[in-house]
Amino acid sequence: MLEMLEEARLLDNRDPLNHVKTQFDTPKNTIYLDGNSLGPLSYPVNLRVQEVMNEQWGQDLIKSWNQHNWIHKPQQVGDSIGKLIGAASGQTICCDSISVNLFKVLSVALNTHEGSTVLSTKDNFPTDLYMVQGLKALFSARNIELKLVAEKQLEKHIDEDIAVVMVSQVNFRSGALLDIPKLTKRAHENNAAIIVDVAHSAGALPVHLDRWKVDFAVGCTYKYLNAGPGAPAFLYVAKRHLGASAQPLYGWMGHAEPFEFSPDYQPAADITQYLTGTPPIISMAATEAAVSIFESVSIDEIRDKSIKLGLAFERAMETSGLDQRFQSISPSSPKQRGSQLSYEHPEAFAICQAWIAEGVIADFRAPNYLRIGFAPLYLSFEDIFHAVEKLEKIMRTKAYNAPKFQAKNKVT
Ligand SMILES: *Cc1c(COP(=O)(O)O)cnc(C)c1O
Repeated sequence: MLEMLEEARLLDNRDPLNHVKTQFDTPKNTIYLDGNSLGPLSYPVNLRVQEVMNEQWGQDLIKSWNQHNWIHKPQQVGDSIGKLIGAASGQTICCDSISVNLFKVLSVALNTHEGSTVLSTKDNFPTDLYMVQGLKALFSARNIELKLVAEKQLEKHIDEDIAVVMVSQVNFRSGALLDIPKLTKRAHENNAAIIVDVAHSAGALPVHLDRWKVDFAVGCTYKYLNAGPGAPAFLYVAKRHLGASAQPLYGWMGHAEPFEFSPDYQPAADITQYLTGTPPIISMAATEAAVSIFESVSIDEIRDKSIKLGLAFERAMETSGLDQRFQSISPSSPKQRGSQLSYEHPEAFAICQAWIAEGVIADFRAPNYLRIGFAPLYLSFEDIFHAVEKLEKIMRTKAYNAPKFQAKNKVT
């Protein structure tokens, strides 16, 4: 084990991203393996939020919409996020939540493509599937169908009956990574649109929406982008679809001339049509500062380190014999998974609670998965070593059997 600790320190010394973690304000004695659920606070975000609150809102009040350019923040922040997902400017906008943004792009995709079947996967993130079910209930006359298949069967099921393929690039439970270029090609060969949810990819691995010719995408900023709880999400619409059909949440911010206060809706011709109401300026400022941290690092370095952190975790699990006690549900090849590993164990919930009590924060996902996220900007190889060391102790002493680790809260 000592050898592994030395090796971890060596890897940290050689890590080109090692310096970035000083930008994060994570609590002492905590190893955070949950950045794929809620990224931590950083100093740039903390400072920017205070500046926007105290200097802009506090001092300049409503003048700030022009003076501090608040009105253009959704596009500006959208464009900076666009750089992380391979989108040229003018196609990404920061607003609302993934759920609401999916409603918008699903509506446009269904309106502009023949057929009424949306193809997705059984274990896609539930809110994505719920949005299709809601559209189906709202437009009962259109007979919208939601067809769900296993990930491995996706490609086979893309045929001319499909109007829209809606997938998450990385599976939130298993971490399995889909081949988006291949699925996009197949969708287009069958005149279908593809909507990609990049919630678990933006800021964690290379995404090339323009190059892959993806039609629409959605994603959030509070996971690997570290913009804070409930920070606004984003959506991407390929240039060729802009202006073709308006998204149906006709809000004044998506009007061509919002400040004419006309009683009639006139859709903006550009990506701002995808806005609905007033942007949440304070959390959008947090998003802008959080995304700026990525300007000094390359996404390839992030991906490289993410893979190495995952491999280091797996190796430590093997060395301590824990691989015999936990069943991995993630693909075995690092190239086929995102930035996380998931393990099945009947006591996963209590184990996760006991681990948290030891200062290692990971995630539990129903029914019995322990989910470990590797966020390369602030995690070290030494963190991985200590996390597994603590898990080994919990399993050896069966500390998770304590009643206090068994009680579930509303958020798990
Ligand atoms: C986190 C996540 C969401 C969350 O959606 P919100 O509406 O922003 O709460 C949606 N889809 C996927 C794939 C996710 O991982």
